Amino acid sequence: MRLLVTGGAGFIGSAVTRQAVAAGHDVLVVDKLTYAANLDNLAPVAGSNRYRFEQADIADGARMRALLADFRPDAVMNLAAESHVDRSIDGPADFIETNIVGTFRLLEAARDYVAAGEAPSGFRFHHISTDEVFGSLGPDDGAFVETSPYQPNSPYSASKAASDMLARAWGETYRLPVVVSNCSNNYGPYQFPEKLIPVVILSALAGKPIPVYGRGENVRDWLYVEDHADALLLIAQNGVPGETYNVGGRAERRNIDLVRAICRLLDARRPDGAPKGGHESLIEFVEDRPGHDLRYAVDCAKIERALGWRPATGLDEGLARTVDWYLANEEWVERIRARGFDGARLGLGGAR
Ligand code: NAD
Repeated sequence: MRLLVTGGAGFIGSAVTRQAVAAGHDVLVVDKLTYAANLDNLAPVAGSNRYRFEQADIADGARMRALLADFRPDAVMNLAAESHVDRSIDGPADFIETNIVGTFRLLEAARDYVAAGEAPSGFRFHHISTDEVFGSLGPDDGAFVETSPYQPNSPYSASKAASDMLARAWGETYRLPVVVSNCSNNYGPYQFPEKLIPVVILSALAGKPIPVYGRGENVRDWLYVEDHADALLLIAQNGVPGETYNVGGRAERRNIDLVRAICRLLDARRPDGAPKGGHESLIEFVEDRPGHDLRYAVDCAKIERALGWRPATGLDEGLARTVDWYLANEEWVERIRARGFDGARLGLGGAR
């Protein structure tokens, strides 16, 4: 397949790109290169003739239209987004611009591409989203299904919810072949060090306090990023236009339990670096994030049934791999710090 992957220099988009190229697909990555992007994530495919990169903003409709006409993809996979909840609370404007206006412009460009007769038959517009659009669950509420009502609580999730609705409407109104997927929390190698798991690993390694919101009671479902990339490639190829698919890891964990598990992994791997009482003694509870959703859980029975996908990596195994990757790739982190990433933000340590 020929895949146009927006946001391909980010955490999940780069995993999709690495996997797609390895599987023999041709990939054009389109990325604005915001603070969250990292071309180092694409180094494994940089020399491949199946991979191309264009720096561009998805909100630049004319540019998107030209790239579509030139590359002629079988699918657009829209992963470009502002993705960090804490940043959306501090300053929502970029979230509105990229997640809503950007998705709108990209949908319009894709509509022109199809209307001009340039899109191959079977073309799909795959919009990638989050389970956060569904809002928060109580401890005994079961899990979100594809038909659960949208109840976003943060500027981030509201902007993603709006973009999901646009994607849906472009499918219904203009018959654009749209598929949407909503996924739970991802983790794994190459995740930008402002998200919970890298924050915990890097704070612990530096002997700094490990910030945990509230009492760490919030529950998230965790999916190893390579498993998500597998699911996304399946959806881009075989997803039924008009359908949405929930994707999850079937691995719910309270934040505090997740953080403790990471600390134990680090105790075992870096016993000399552990403070007295182990890395757990670095845990520091901080004032909770406003509007912090208590629990997310997704029911991914539909994609399991319809497309035969299942999360392949258990949480314990995925966490061990992730910790080992950060330990082996300290240079990757150093290069981000050298670009001026504000280490103070590590103190925020959100759930995403
Ligand atoms: P990320 O922040 O790591 O990467 C986002 C990428 O998009 C960056 O490379 C950035 O430069 C690019 N980008 C931002 N604005 C752009 C614009 N206007 N034009 C072009 N490129 C732009 O995010 P991620 O964690 O890889 O998430 C990717 C997608 O998956 C997002 O849509 C997010 O909402 C969704 N998602 C993420 C998670 C998660 O746990 N990380 C879970 C479910 C869904």
